[in-house]
Amino acid sequence: MSENLWKKALELFAGGVNSPVRAAVKPYPFYVEKSEGAFLYTIDGQRLIDYVLGYGPLILGHAHPYVKKKIIEQIEKGWLYGTPSKKEIELAEKIRSHIPSAEKIRFVNSGTEATMLAIRLARGYTKREKILKFDGNYHGAHDYALINAGSAVSEFNVIISSGIPTSIINTVIVCKYNDLDCVEKHLRTEEIAGVIVEPVMGNMGVILPEQDFLNGLRELTKTYNSVLIFDEVITGFRLGLSGAQGYFKVIPDLTTLGKIIGGGLPIGAVTGKKEIMSNLTPEGNVFNAGTFNANPLTMAAGIATIEVLETTNAYDIANKASKEIAEELDNSLSKKNFKYTINRIQSMFQFFIGISKVTNADDARLANKHLYVKIHEKLLKLGVFIPPSQFETIFTSSSHSDEIVNLTIEAIHKVVSEI
Ligand code: PMP
Repeated sequence: MSENLWKKALELFAGGVNSPVRAAVKPYPFYVEKSEGAFLYTIDGQRLIDYVLGYGPLILGHAHPYVKKKIIEQIEKGWLYGTPSKKEIELAEKIRSHIPSAEKIRFVNSGTEATMLAIRLARGYTKREKILKFDGNYHGAHDYALINAGSAVSEFNVIISSGIPTSIINTVIVCKYNDLDCVEKHLRTEEIAGVIVEPVMGNMGVILPEQDFLNGLRELTKTYNSVLIFDEVITGFRLGLSGAQGYFKVIPDLTTLGKIIGGGLPIGAVTGKKEIMSNLTPEGNVFNAGTFNANPLTMAAGIATIEVLETTNAYDIANKASKEIAEELDNSLSKKNFKYTINRIQSMFQFFIGISKVTNADDARLANKHLYVKIHEKLLKLGVFIPPSQFETIFTSSSHSDEIVNLTIEAIHKVVSEI
């Protein structure tokens, strides 16, 4: 039973978990026995419709048969070579054919590593030290990113992680999302190596860029010779094959990717302009290396996932599920006498209760987290798993068929009518 494992977990792991948001499921996280399609099956015998989807990677749902087949085929041939394989060429070519900014690529093993490297590259390339980020954007769990970050950092009220040297904190400038004046003020100092941004925020709930925000960032960074980094770890291959940059038609200098491009296995990538990427070792002096970089197993899963996205109506199904659920949730919430808003784009959305517009992290912090958690808990009892934190995204996948969507909508109506 989950309860028994949780008791052991509390002895073994700080806070009982290996990634903090997992502990937000109360009174203890459920333990999963297996997963398939849109479903998680817990060791307690419950079947859950999953809208967390590994926090984003599983756009085809769990254990997609084609991806599984390709992973097994690769396992038969070995899974770590420590030397290049054809698979890394194939995945890189796919990424370059779809992501407009991608000229050269470096594969790493997580989104955290990708943003850490992109930031170092921006500094190495410009010979400047400061980085500008946005309040509530989450770029992984390294020193340069854990300042006013979203996701579990906000969930657990850590504004600046302890353990980061003050000298590093002083190199990170924070502006509010959608605030171009703040960005310009700091870029004018000509000390900013790069601006890193989630082109759609997925780590404070979902928050969309206002019209001209991304364009404005593009123009300002060009004017002040600063590197524009789009962190597309979530949005890459989720908003469509060309990511947020294709969707909004704004091309950054560097892009970080992760999640979907590994098909559910660990991955990260930095990609962008040849002129900047060529500063990476062994061509240049900005160092990066990794035992598991471009390992063939992850490459196989990533290629297979993108192949399915290229050749099927996966996006249509995932987007339709997200649209229908968000619309019905809207219907349900509109019958209550409180303010709320739902932010949605393609197959990602989140709702905020107690506030009628959310355009930056401060707005999101004003939402009624208590009610959000209550809805999460009631839905879980009815077999629907949405993130346990207000500051995460509800994702849909191509496994979320009409039947599954209808079951979800029924549960939503019941839960919202009861709160
Ligand atoms: N950037 C963004 C936008 C993310 O959403 C995340 C993870 N949720 C990361 C970076 C870090 O990725 P990882 O967890 O693979 O280190």
